[in-house]
Amino acid sequence: MINHESYFSILNEVKKKNALLVAVSKTRTPDEIMKLYELGQRDFGENYVQELVEKHSKLPTDIRWHFIGHLQTNKVKYISPFIHLIHGADSLKILKEINRQGEINKRILHVLIQVHIAMEETKFGVDVNESEQLINEFRSLSMNHCFIDGLMGMASQTSNEELIRNEFGQLYSVYKKQPSFSVLSMGMSGDYKIALEMGSNMVRIGSLLFGERRSE
Ligand SMILES: *Cc1c(COP(=O)(O)O)cnc(C)c1O
Repeated sequence: MINHESYFSILNEVKKKNALLVAVSKTRTPDEIMKLYELGQRDFGENYVQELVEKHSKLPTDIRWHFIGHLQTNKVKYISPFIHLIHGADSLKILKEINRQGEINKRILHVLIQVHIAMEETKFGVDVNESEQLINEFRSLSMNHCFIDGLMGMASQTSNEELIRNEFGQLYSVYKKQPSFSVLSMGMSGDYKIALEMGSNMVRIGSLLFGERRSE
């Protein structure tokens, strides 16, 4: 169920900050995606490789697909021919495989480094202090088929706005240190307004656009 009015009001808020709206369509049907497509939306984000590959084959070819989940090394090959941006790279191993698949597909694959800024424990993302080391290691290897556009992060799931602000602020300072970076992907349905205030230029919004998710 998509409410046109809320789509356009979110879109305008995002555009005012010169940011890009990625509509997170995981678990949504191709029909639901087409409703937003018909309103003009072209950037969609998916978390699961198989679901993404299926949707890519069924939906218009001018959709820009963003992979926002955790990408396993052995699955990079399935999305490499068409993916627009991979948001969650967090190791040299995955960057090397992305570069290898870029070479095979004769294209440059664009990635964001996922940085862990939240309080919740997770295996995914590098810590703030490890991120610069990973970026430097990547650069020393001159991988010409993989380009790091910037960073992605998720704040803690909390109602404490100060904490969220602080976490996004940390990510913004890492981002600002890298002159070649142009993308800072932070902000979801619950915290995108704070993210935009803190310098995000790409928000990933699912439930506010499509309604609550049925399952994952
Ligand atoms: C699901 C998901 C989102 C969107 O979440 P909503 O709260 O529905 O907006 C954004 N980013 C990532 C990485 C996600 O997995």
